[in-house]
Amino acid sequence: MKIELRKVPFNKSDFETSLNNVVMKGSFYKETPNIAKIEAILSGEVEVECVKCLKPFTKKIEEKLKLIITDRVYSGFDNEYDVIEINSNIIDFDDIITSEIESVKLEYNNICEKCKESNLDLEI
Ligand SMILES: [Zn+2]
Repeated sequence: MKIELRKVPFNKSDFETSLNNVVMKGSFYKETPNIAKIEAILSGEVEVECVKCLKPFTKKIEEKLKLIITDRVYSGFDNEYDVIEINSNIIDFDDIITSEIESVKLEYNNICEKCKESNLDLEI
């Protein structure tokens, strides 16, 4: 899903979009003509590689996202929201989901069930 920043409503509006096996569901609104805020939950399944045996497995995810989207340089600082500066006026939700999926793939704790089990054996 793509939407022009200038077409994001000033009133909080619900949206839902998905890419592959991941759904992004939440609400967005425009705070100023150049700043949109998105609050959403990303849920679904991502194919990741086990950090121990390097075999691919499916990881279930459910992550809260709080994003500020702006087409200007964002000079403010926000603890709560991640800031995404866009070059055009287009908010590309597919891009947002893709980059979240990429960061899930890079997590150090991607360990498949088999390796988790063998870890338990070692501890006993
Ligand atoms: Zn493994």
